[in-house]
Amino acid sequence: MAAPADLILTNAEVHTLADPDGTAEAVAVRDGRIVRVDSAYEVGFLEGVGTEVIDCEGRVLLPGFVDAHTHMDAVGRRLVHADLSGAGSRAEALDRLRLRAETTDEGWVRGYGYDESEWGETDYLTRGDLDGVAGDRPVVAFREDLHSASLNAAGLDELLDRMEARNVHREGGRPTGVVVEGAVGTVQSALAPDREGLRDLLESARDRAHELGITAVHDMVRGTPAPRVYRELDRADELDLRVRINYWTDHLDAVAEAGLVSNAGSEFVRCGAIKSFTDGSIGSGTAKLTEPFADSGGRGTWVVPPAELREWVERAEDAGFQFTAHAIGDEAVAETLDAFAECEDPAAARHRVEHAEVLTDELVERFAELGVVASVQPNFHKWAREGGLYETRLGPERTRASNPIGSLLEAGVPLAFGSDTMPLGPLFGVEQAVTAPSPEQRVGVTEALRAYTYGAAYAGFDEGRMGTVERGKLADLVVLEASPWDVDPHDIADIDVEMTVVDGRVVYRNDG
Ligand SMILES: [Zn+2]
Repeated sequence: MAAPADLILTNAEVHTLADPDGTAEAVAVRDGRIVRVDSAYEVGFLEGVGTEVIDCEGRVLLPGFVDAHTHMDAVGRRLVHADLSGAGSRAEALDRLRLRAETTDEGWVRGYGYDESEWGETDYLTRGDLDGVAGDRPVVAFREDLHSASLNAAGLDELLDRMEARNVHREGGRPTGVVVEGAVGTVQSALAPDREGLRDLLESARDRAHELGITAVHDMVRGTPAPRVYRELDRADELDLRVRINYWTDHLDAVAEAGLVSNAGSEFVRCGAIKSFTDGSIGSGTAKLTEPFADSGGRGTWVVPPAELREWVERAEDAGFQFTAHAIGDEAVAETLDAFAECEDPAAARHRVEHAEVLTDELVERFAELGVVASVQPNFHKWAREGGLYETRLGPERTRASNPIGSLLEAGVPLAFGSDTMPLGPLFGVEQAVTAPSPEQRVGVTEALRAYTYGAAYAGFDEGRMGTVERGKLADLVVLEASPWDVDPHDIADIDVEMTVVDGRVVYRNDG
């Protein structure tokens, strides 16, 4: 007779999300792995005296969500500092900053994640807006995409002389308070937390991830002690989240010298890809487009020009790394795919493009031919709605064709879903993918869930150990309060997570 299970989740509507998607009633777990997926009756034979049995009361059980593109420190910052995401108006964003200022005595007042397009506006927060928020204390509000930030007069006083002039917006010679690109980095470095502070942020973010059913993330890391914090938490057996660290190109030499290659690491913390930017963003008008922006008439800017990108790709490949490049505009995506095309086997290396928001049919075909992973954010469809950010910046035609997730799937492109933490939340992304305006942008519920589990796992060479509910896989699971197949598609984002299990341990239970 088989050894008894440590944990049995029974009376569930199990969707394996394997190919084809199968169903079952119960899952048995031993030593952190799934040992049986079957009827409640069959799985019942694995119940021993020490087995914990959880009755899921008919709820949907899925593989834990894998978010293929996160900035966990950013999630933590919004939990700890003022969270400006979802503010309904400029005034509400400013109120949230004021409230934050009242809860702390000194130092910078920080807000994260504002998006003026949600207020039906196009103007960023300015020095004038922020000067009234916190007396003479410095204030900064970061835009959602982190490509721009707004400072008050006291904030500018502290940091202006460290910023490149081209990254500081001015009107009649006076700084407006808006700074972009490299100057945002200046603010971030000046405000960077120490290791203890970062540990607090990452633990808050980890807890939030569990509430949302996330059991694994691909975290984008640059110039922070995050890799060390993750490994400390792992060694203390307190991480409870699988973290694949994608290191910035700045770190390539150090990571390679330390003997790391992609996929090296523990069950919880692994070395991922080497990551680079190519262009900016649509919100900031800096994505690299073949046709001009509808509003500014510009065609974007290279953050890392194509020739330099090619060098990085070659160096990373030589050192044994998967490569991933942020590329948003069609010109940036084309250049990135060109760089990958020069690799020996881009499909085997699972090189990735992050975002890929403005694509053409040809680019979709090239993704498929090369087998390059499209690491996309279905939540960005929120900007493709009528009167949204894309329409202003890109015009109606490119808006309808933006983030063509349906076309990518149909072409057979390996598809990984992630949030880019705008906001963190797989079910929000699934709802956006299922309800997207055009058929080229849309996918079905099962396909969306698969891209947020198996697809994201594949993008991290992890499909052998996570991403489906199958025997032998890690016991990383999520139980939902309602079925995403049964509710109105526009209510999918509102489905609560009932329970999250990582490594066979219940790490979150909704007692609300
Ligand atoms: Zn990102």
